[in-house]
Amino acid sequence: MTRINPMKPSERMKIPRQEPLEQGASERIENFLEVSYGFDADRSIVEAQRCLECTKPICIDGCPVEIDIPGFIELVLQKDFAGAARKIREANYLPAICGRVCPQETQCEELCVLGKKLTPVAIGKLERFVADFETEHNLFELPLIAERRPEKVAIVGSGPAGLTCAAELARMGYAVTIFEALHDVGGVLRYGIPEFRLPKRILDLEADRVRALGVEIHTNFVVGRTAAIDEFFDEWGFAAVFLATGAGSPMFMGIPGEQLIGVYSANEFLTRVNLMGAWRFPHHDTPIRVGRNVAVIGGGNTAMDAVRTARRLGAERAMLIYRRSRQEMPARIEEIHHAEEEGIELLLLTNPVQILGDERGQVRALECMRMELGEPDESGRRRPVVIEGSEFVLEVETVIEAIGQLPNPIIQATTPGLETGRRGIVKTDGTQRTSRPGIFAGGDLARGGATAILAMRDGKKAAAGIHRYLQDSRLGERPQEQTTS
Ligand SMILES: Cc1cc2nc3c(=O)[nH]c(=O)nc-3n(C[C@H](O)[C@H](O)[C@H](O)COP(=O)(O)OP(=O)(O)OC[C@H]3O[C@@H](n4cnc5c(N)ncnc54)[C@H](O)[C@@H]3O)c2cc1C
Ligand code: SF4
Repeated sequence: MTRINPMKPSERMKIPRQEPLEQGASERIENFLEVSYGFDADRSIVEAQRCLECTKPICIDGCPVEIDIPGFIELVLQKDFAGAARKIREANYLPAICGRVCPQETQCEELCVLGKKLTPVAIGKLERFVADFETEHNLFELPLIAERRPEKVAIVGSGPAGLTCAAELARMGYAVTIFEALHDVGGVLRYGIPEFRLPKRILDLEADRVRALGVEIHTNFVVGRTAAIDEFFDEWGFAAVFLATGAGSPMFMGIPGEQLIGVYSANEFLTRVNLMGAWRFPHHDTPIRVGRNVAVIGGGNTAMDAVRTARRLGAERAMLIYRRSRQEMPARIEEIHHAEEEGIELLLLTNPVQILGDERGQVRALECMRMELGEPDESGRRRPVVIEGSEFVLEVETVIEAIGQLPNPIIQATTPGLETGRRGIVKTDGTQRTSRPGIFAGGDLARGGATAILAMRDGKKAAAGIHRYLQDSRLGERPQEQTTS
């Protein structure tokens, strides 16, 4: 690669990592506007100068969809921001979304060589900047679409897995239709992740760019109820199906008091706010009830989004209750940092044991136990162990459980021969094939709750697998017997 940055590596290493401007914490807890303002052009160029243009860019190994990271950073240095966005889109069709929600600190940035002794290049912030710049300056160009192929492919679910698979297949020339149960597209990106982290206009824009490739999207269509998968093949002429229905079924702790008024799953709480517009109530019809004291149970991104949303909806004391320590929290570091700035209390090594109600059946308190960490469990994390006699009671009016989600079972139950494993997760092989020929699956449905970019990787792999499957079918070859693990 020809180096275009004239600075010596030692000079580049002296440049501090650039940080974006952000909305102040006291201001942002009063609104739902985006927290981070992202980079501007000047900051992006300075940050791009830090990249060492490694001959073996291991940052790419950390990216699940293998974006050419030094390639796009080089275009940033050349001030060809739209070219940089196009370079990213070769591997990732949703760069403005990923630039905002991807956990870069555990992916590309974790491997960046600069991070060994200094701080890694802010790859995610650069990705977001070029994607936003391209939009603001109206520079988006539709990628090339191959000649139309005869087969139709159905995709179930319009989250990041479904949108990515659709974009890949449409670019290959297939006629693609997405069926979505909800009234709007995006999956968790719409109903889970709040406006202050991922504005809906960004999601709308990137979903529209999927539509612009010729992808049809039918909303309010619950596959397994409105029509079954077998009807797609037998009556509607689809040649292959990608299942990307996510993991939208909330888990509960199973403790006494969960039936009380004021207990929500994070899924319901966030859906009311994000999808049904309760954050704009009464301008929107859906109400939401948030007490002065709110306890959110869990330590992942979902818990973090719920507690920060509760704070913005007026909770004076918004607490996150997590049974392990900070080190084990699965939430993104940036989100934990933002939450603490916003006055969220982290009650670590704490586990709820019962929710207490008043005479009207409404939540009045949460009884908890203190925990300590024991030996590692099957997840590799140290197992939390109860400290006997450590019970204490927190006065709260709202309890939100964010302890994990499972796949919704409708499709598994209505698709004969579709093998599932633990907790209804659909079994797939390395190319996202399921036990049923012509049916592929990916994202949270095939993994349990994971990340947007892993769902997108599955979507890409499924598109490649479907293409191979359809080519084999067209050539009259019997597609290989499907085996799953
Ligand atoms: C609150 C929250 C915050 C998160 N924050 C982050 C983050 O910051 N970064 C990150 O990388 N990941 C985050 N995640 C995880 C990430 O969003 C998911 O891993 C990702 O969205 C999974 O994508 P998917 O396409 O598999 O499924 P989903 O996004 O769940 O989309 C599935 C879609 O399928 C539809 N569907 C379901 N059943 C049917 C049916 N029978 N018929 C038709 N349609 C159906 C659903 O309505 C939904 O729209 C978060 C998750 C949550 C819940
Ligand atoms: S590893 Fe870091 S320094 Fe090297 S090419 Fe990738 S982003 Fe640049």
